[in-house]
Amino acid sequence: VRLDDGTVKTFVGYRVQHNLSLGPGKGGIRYHPAVDLSETAGLAMLMTFKCALVGLPYGGAKGGIAVDPTLLSRAELQALTRRYATEINMIIGPHVDIPAPDIGTDGQTMAWFMDTYSQIKGYTEGAIVTGKPLELGGSKGRAESTGKGVAYCVNFAAEKLGMPINQNTTVAIHGFGKVAIPAAYDLGAQGAKIVAVSDISGGVYDANGLDIAKCEAWVKENKVLKGMPGTKHITNEELFALNVDVLIPAAIDGVITKDNAHNVKAKIIAEGANGPLTKEAVDIVSQKGAFLIPDVLCNAGGVIVSYFEWVQGLQSFFWDLDEVNKRLHSIMKDAFENVYATSKEFNCNMKSAALVAAIRRLERAMKLRGLWPS
Ligand code: GLU
Repeated sequence: VRLDDGTVKTFVGYRVQHNLSLGPGKGGIRYHPAVDLSETAGLAMLMTFKCALVGLPYGGAKGGIAVDPTLLSRAELQALTRRYATEINMIIGPHVDIPAPDIGTDGQTMAWFMDTYSQIKGYTEGAIVTGKPLELGGSKGRAESTGKGVAYCVNFAAEKLGMPINQNTTVAIHGFGKVAIPAAYDLGAQGAKIVAVSDISGGVYDANGLDIAKCEAWVKENKVLKGMPGTKHITNEELFALNVDVLIPAAIDGVITKDNAHNVKAKIIAEGANGPLTKEAVDIVSQKGAFLIPDVLCNAGGVIVSYFEWVQGLQSFFWDLDEVNKRLHSIMKDAFENVYATSKEFNCNMKSAALVAAIRRLERAMKLRGLWPS
């Protein structure tokens, strides 16, 4: 990639397709310094299970580039994205493998990606990616869909525990991005108090509930949450240990581990991010009696509305927002009930139950397709 100063820099990128038994590969593209082959492969596997669990006709895939996107200019990001799209164009396609946004990428990234792929093909191929801006065939509701799905799941879990979400509910959110913000708005609209959110600068806390719109405006001006007037600064570790009803880790993987899981007091833990709790942490919080909503269920709203976007694009027929959200709610509710029933059937936590339910679907599909050539 040629940088703004004229020098050429090499970046390492990946695209992994994990299991394509249920349909074309589906999964995001991550721009983050920690991206490597094993992480990308692990996330592709998670997409296989996620798509299978919620009944989408997709297999699992994931991509990424090891880069800190905040250090690149807009022109450099565009060049990086177009290079990446060019390098992987022969292994993707609207019926082969359909990328989408993930950490560090957004609608603009998808627009550059789609444009590059379309130039190679010689015609506009909107269905090559999802998470596109509305003007280019994106779906209404896609931007908020992951966070909205998280909020739906928190409600489903709260119902099971007989503690409905209302003005007595307190919520702490690790993260303040594409997943955290819409989840905060939706739970806030139900009356819940969002007492803490956080970013790389740490967390902000207000026992009476944060004004999320004010936090957003502050970050727009100041880049980070730190210094937000009228709030108390806390560390991310303090955020995880808050005495709240709901904890939503919605930033990145591996933040709750065997070292800090003992401190978690929340009754509901909603995995907005992919893999925010390590395996040991899942066991610890489950033993403590917390209701854990696993990532493949909790954050599936994003890929579900990606599927809606793909379907709408292939038909060139676009739905209104109510239609999108109604269908999103219905798929998430069915998936939640399926995982809940599976957890009762096997007397296991929701994390294991989600994997059982996903692998059951996958197993049926693989057996029906058969082993060929044998
Ligand atoms: N990156 C998101 C995820 O991890 C969305 C993937 C997609 O929409 O294909 O589920």
